[in-house]
Amino acid sequence: MMEEETAEVKERKVSLTERVFAKVLSSNANNYCFDCGEKEPTFVSVNHGIFLCYNCAICIHQVHYPVEISFIKSIFDKNWSYP
Ligand SMILES: [Zn+2]
Repeated sequence: MMEEETAEVKERKVSLTERVFAKVLSSNANNYCFDCGEKEPTFVSVNHGIFLCYNCAICIHQVHYPVEISFIKSIFDKNWSYP
């Protein structure tokens, strides 16, 4: 049985996620949507490892592709786990 995470553990994970995104997004190549080139993408296709803008992530990937093809998450999501 898995133990429930404490608030402190959850906060450390969020902090680590924010630091990882800050580092990854510091690369100029990651500051553009992979599909359309829009600046400052705020979504990720986890299984493709690409950054996407809102329109490409929500209006295209999330609507047209099942999660097995493109699993979309916001970079601001506090819970980063794969389904
Ligand atoms: Zn886009």
